Amino acid sequence: MDKYNQTSLQLFGNSSFDDLLSTKGIRKLSIRLNPRMMKSWNVKISNLTGSRILNVPAFMEKAPDEIKKALIEWALLPLCKFGKKKKKIQPLRSRLENIIHQYISSQLFVTQKTSTINPQSLQFKTKGNRYDLTKVFNKINSQYFENTIKAIVRWGSYASTTSYQTTKTDNNGSKFHLITIAGVYNHPDVPGFAIEAVMYHEMLHIKIPPYKKNGRNVIHGPEYKMAERKFQFYNEWHQWEKLYLFNLAKQMRSKHKRKF
Ligand SMILES: [Zn+2]
Repeated sequence: MDKYNQTSLQLFGNSSFDDLLSTKGIRKLSIRLNPRMMKSWNVKISNLTGSRILNVPAFMEKAPDEIKKALIEWALLPLCKFGKKKKKIQPLRSRLENIIHQYISSQLFVTQKTSTINPQSLQFKTKGNRYDLTKVFNKINSQYFENTIKAIVRWGSYASTTSYQTTKTDNNGSKFHLITIAGVYNHPDVPGFAIEAVMYHEMLHIKIPPYKKNGRNVIHGPEYKMAERKFQFYNEWHQWEKLYLFNLAKQMRSKHKRKF
């Protein structure tokens, strides 16, 4: 899927949260590192003083500055649950959340495996309920990329809605690409063009990697977008995602609950 996915970014600098808060002169925010938090974060606001507490997973203290700054900016966004103002802030909020989510996913992977990875050891089960990711990958690779894309593919967590691609380093120091396809695409009702489209989208990120422009990471730049439209069912996929993706994920989650 779009918005969230990501290649590994070149990120530098590692100041502590407190450093960043004090350089920016931010007094009304404090950060709590929570070792039990894994994928989520939240902000609590005191009704009385208006000061805010940002609760984040403990490993965030090691995050690059760019990620910490995104968290701080997120925690300071005005609170508006409804209406025009909310709509206005929403794009910025989503952009920040994407940055944070991407970092968290990359870290969860790193902490589960070791920091250096042998690609051969990543024997993911790619066969899903309806599609085998390896087969989808090979098909798209020959159809659109002349078999030039090299990557390891895997399913994302159950009912997840985020697909992404990251670059990992193996234990010989060479880099390889890892594509994670959102778990929701493992629902048996997912049509062939949709799984192929999301695979194409992620593979295209390998062919057209993100770059920096004016200090910003351009992930879906003009050349990317143009190439993306070459996928035969581009419009159908977008339409399908809009109509079905979140409903399918919801369905999967409720089934899951009933089972356990
Ligand atoms: Zn993308």
